[in-house]
Amino acid sequence: MAVASSFQPLLIPTIFSVIEEITLKQLFQNITIDEDTCIAWLKSNGLLATGIMCKCGIIMRSGTFSGIADGKGWRCTEKSCKKFASMRIGSFFEGAHIPLTELVEFLYFWADNLQTTAFLHKNLGWGEHTITDWKNFLRDLCAEEFLVNPQPIGGPGHIVEIDESKFGHRRYSRGRMLSSQWVFGGIDRRQKISL
Ligand SMILES: [Zn+2]
Repeated sequence: MAVASSFQPLLIPTIFSVIEEITLKQLFQNITIDEDTCIAWLKSNGLLATGIMCKCGIIMRSGTFSGIADGKGWRCTEKSCKKFASMRIGSFFEGAHIPLTELVEFLYFWADNLQTTAFLHKNLGWGEHTITDWKNFLRDLCAEEFLVNPQPIGGPGHIVEIDESKFGHRRYSRGRMLSSQWVFGGIDRRQKISL
C-alpha cells in the first residue's frame, strides 16, 4: 500500500505545532467530541492518510465497512482485488486498540505536560500499564526524533539539566526503532525546551 505524500506517520514534530494552538475547550468541543469529527481533524492535519493506493495499483475508496477497526477504512475498487485497509494504515495509530478520540486526548495531555498517571487514569480511564506503555512509546519517539534531527539547546546564562536513559525496549513496536543505545537528554528551563 502507498500513502499520500502529505502523510506523516511519525507525528512528534507535527503534534507540538498543532497542539500549541488548541485549547482544552476546543479539543473537547471541536476535535474529540466523536470519532467522525476526530478522524476528519486527523486527516486535515496530515496525521491520517487521505488517500491510499492498493498494491494492485488502484486508488482505494474510503467508506464505512463492518468488521474492521473504527468501522471505517479503505477498499480497493478493482473487482478482482477488493482488498480492505484500516483507516489507521501507516499511521501512528496503526495497531492500537484504543479509540482515536482517546489517543488524541492522550497526545494533547502528554504534549501539554499533563502526564501524571493519576491524571491520565482519571481522564482517560486507562490502566497504569497502558499509561506507562504509551508514555514510554512517546518518549522513545522523541529520542528517535532527536537522534535523526539533533537540535542545540541552552545558551549563555541558561542552565541545562542533563539526564541519561537507555532507549530501545519499546513495548509497542510500531515504526522503525534505532538499535538500543544511550541517549543524553537535556532540559533548558528558561527556553522550556527538553530533548
Ligand atoms: Zn487492489
